[in-house]
Amino acid sequence: MCLFCEIAAHRVTAHLVDETDRTVTILDTDPVNEGHVLILPKLHVDSIVDLPDETVLEMAALTRKLVKAFSSVYGAPGYGTMQNGGASCSFGHFHFHVFPRWPGDGYDWIYPEGEKEVSANVAAKLKNAMKTV
Ligand SMILES: [Zn+2]
Repeated sequence: MCLFCEIAAHRVTAHLVDETDRTVTILDTDPVNEGHVLILPKLHVDSIVDLPDETVLEMAALTRKLVKAFSSVYGAPGYGTMQNGGASCSFGHFHFHVFPRWPGDGYDWIYPEGEKEVSANVAAKLKNAMKTV
C-alpha cells in the first residue's frame, strides 16, 4: 500500500484539512507556500484518466473551496495548482497540489532547454484527439 493510501486510511499521520467519502486533503510536508495542500483521491490510481468523473469533479470543487479559504485565511491574491500523473506521479498515487500565491513569492516554472513547436498544427492535432478520447 502506498504512502497516500496509508494516509487516506489514517494509518499514517498527516495534517488533515478535509475529508469526504472520496478524498482526503492534507498539508504538503514540503510546501511552496504556507497553506499548500494535497487533495488525494481515496482510490489508488496514478492518473486522472483512471478516476471516476465524480471524483475528478469533487477534486475540482475542493480546489475552488481551498482557493476561497486561502483568500480568507491569508488574503492571498493568487493561487497555484498542479497535478502530475502517470510516470510523473509522486508515490504512484494521483493527487492535486493547491497552494496560495503572492507576487514575487519565488515559485516559478522551470522549462527544459530546446525548441518546441507552437502552431496551428499542434492545436489541430490536440483538437482532433480530444474528439475521440
Ligand atoms: Zn495509493
